[in-house]
Amino acid sequence: MSNKTTGIQDASAEAWNRIAEEGFKPSPSQYELWYRYYDSDPDVCNAIDRHEGKITEATCHEIYERFVARSSIDNAMQKINDHLQEALTEISGAVGDMKDATTECGDSLADMSTQVRKADSIEDIESVISYLVNDTKKMIEYNRSLEQRLDTSSAQVNILKESLDVVRHEAMTDALTGLANRKSFNVALENAMREAEEDKEPLTLLMLDVDHFKLFNDSFGHLIGDQVLRLVARCLIDGVKGRDTSARYGGEEFAIILPNTPLSSGIVVANALRASVESREVINRTSNQHLGKITMSIGVAEYDKGESSDDFVERADGALYTAKNNGRNQVAAAGA
Ligand code: GH3
Ligand code: MG
Ligand code: MG
Repeated sequence: MSNKTTGIQDASAEAWNRIAEEGFKPSPSQYELWYRYYDSDPDVCNAIDRHEGKITEATCHEIYERFVARSSIDNAMQKINDHLQEALTEISGAVGDMKDATTECGDSLADMSTQVRKADSIEDIESVISYLVNDTKKMIEYNRSLEQRLDTSSAQVNILKESLDVVRHEAMTDALTGLANRKSFNVALENAMREAEEDKEPLTLLMLDVDHFKLFNDSFGHLIGDQVLRLVARCLIDGVKGRDTSARYGGEEFAIILPNTPLSSGIVVANALRASVESREVINRTSNQHLGKITMSIGVAEYDKGESSDDFVERADGALYTAKNNGRNQVAAAGA
């Protein structure tokens, strides 16, 4: 950690200085990242201080996605949960008040019926009736206000539930590509492995990596690099079907889980995806300049019942490495 300060003012000033010094384009995410750095956020400091070589905008983007965006989601979840707790407390309060009011009303009715039995003149009965009318009116009004409290609270709960769904979805999704992120990939893979064991079905995993992406990024800039990642994601989404999971595994590496699919069919899918990516031309949308094609290398492995998810991923990754070594833009399969 170098020269970090603690005050809000200082951390903020240091963040702006650093962004200017590095020549980065100022943006809210750049600011938040460097603010956290100078405010001594341990994850951000660790990632930046341990980074070898020059920090580029691409590195900043990766660190931001890994540590800052994630913790914003955690904070949002926490806030929604707190608000849900408040709404639930209000509802249980309203229900409690309703119970008390009902008991009170029952007591008052019992009282009235004793008075009616004891009444010996028309005036007495009239007075009991007038009490009854009054009490009933009060009860109706009170019920109406309780009903309103309950309506408001349950509307709040519904909105909060929707917000929670949105945030949960965000927590499992890669912001750049909209694919499943690494975390939900891990969950989906464990589920797929368990189902493959239970249903005695084959399961195949593809690991995909963009070829010479660094060159593309360095030549045309990070924003075009991001555009390429979105283009690849589109090819993957269009190229797989219902039960399959496409995920961004990290940087420019993707993974696809193919349930109920043997190795041979996995290789067919991989080749189709490879061809689909190769068939696209990358175009700079602002200048309309054609920037060429991109290709991908893909490793394929079929699940070997009983192996761990780490071993399974490692075998698919090994096959990907073979595809790279054999000249890229190709598919390689792992032996068991
Ligand atoms: P290979 O064919 O061997 O895979 O070479 P490569 O250049 O694709 O691989 P390398 O691992 O050397 O470079 C990956 C690059 O991907 C480096 C990093 O800056 C870039 N990168 C990682 N994540 C992102 C991102 O989210 N957006 C952009 N634009 N670039 C990214
Ligand atoms: Mg690559
Ligand atoms: Mg890579």
